[in-house]
Amino acid sequence: MPQEAHVYSYSAVLMGSPILLKLFQHNEHLAHQVFRLIKHYENLLTVNRSPSEVMNINYAAGQHPVVVNPAVYQLIKCAKAASMLPNSAFNLAIGPLVKRWKIGFQGSSVPPAEDITALLALTDPGQVILDDAQHSVFLTRPGMEIDLGAIAKGYIADRVRDFLHSQQVFQGLINLGGNVQTLGGASLASGAAWSVGLKKPFAGPDELIGVIEVNGKSVVTSGTYERWFEFEGKHYHHILDPRTGYPLDNALHSVTIISQDSIDGDIWTTLIYGMGVEQGCACLANKPGIEAIFVTKDRKVVLSSQQLFTFTLQDPSYQLSLGCL
Ligand code: AMP
Ligand code: MG
Repeated sequence: MPQEAHVYSYSAVLMGSPILLKLFQHNEHLAHQVFRLIKHYENLLTVNRSPSEVMNINYAAGQHPVVVNPAVYQLIKCAKAASMLPNSAFNLAIGPLVKRWKIGFQGSSVPPAEDITALLALTDPGQVILDDAQHSVFLTRPGMEIDLGAIAKGYIADRVRDFLHSQQVFQGLINLGGNVQTLGGASLASGAAWSVGLKKPFAGPDELIGVIEVNGKSVVTSGTYERWFEFEGKHYHHILDPRTGYPLDNALHSVTIISQDSIDGDIWTTLIYGMGVEQGCACLANKPGIEAIFVTKDRKVVLSSQQLFTFTLQDPSYQLSLGCL
């Protein structure tokens, strides 16, 4: 008989999100260390208040390069690489548009079209100049702003995993506001998987489309229903299309990525969301370590492939299909 293990849950609110840590030991000191680590990275990466390393870069836009901590530099380098992919929906320099729309914050509104055009001109990721020798970042034009909101939680989830490994903890789960990284399985029984709910768009917090089961993998979702507002009957959500300056608009309600590292999940949800189901599926066919669950507005759940996870549909009003449509 496999031994049953008790799971201990620890929670906090950090980065404006509920944080949940699950461990197989009662260890408040360890939980406190994890929350302190998250806070440390939040203080480096936030753009919602100063000071932070990223705010220092943004304040110096059009003036001078800013030397940053090596970890921050590597994260910005990674975010720039994703932003420079052909026709990428990911853009680390999206900050001026995010600040103008304010989606998810008080005072959000639809900007006039001419404002969007003017701000788009300040979002060229090619104008984020990196210096590997100095670890410096320079935004060449005044008004440019880096925003790492689409990548920071994934990066931090991986750092929490690495920290727990360094403490000889090889089983557990960290949930950073919906950005989940798991260590090992969900019990001492071999092969036991963690269950992660796939949320039903615009429904109550406990209403699920189905359940994803993973062992030692990350599960990240980006969706139109996370942060949004409505104006004159139209829905505006927080993931902006850097090609238009407006919220990404296609057949999708959400994209979930299952991967080893949560940073990949965080980047790929945005990239794949921008591609849509067909192109996204085709792109992932050559990427065995990255798998997607698409939820379309017409209630289809499409799995790109299913090597890293299992999925059980619970809501019969959705139709499940495996592979490209
Ligand atoms: P996520 O929840 O990981 O999908 O990230 C959403 C957050 O990333 C937003 O709240 C913005 O701060 C930022 N963001 C919005 N659109 C983009 C984009 N196209 N590329 C990169 N970051 C974005
Ligand atoms: Mg993301």
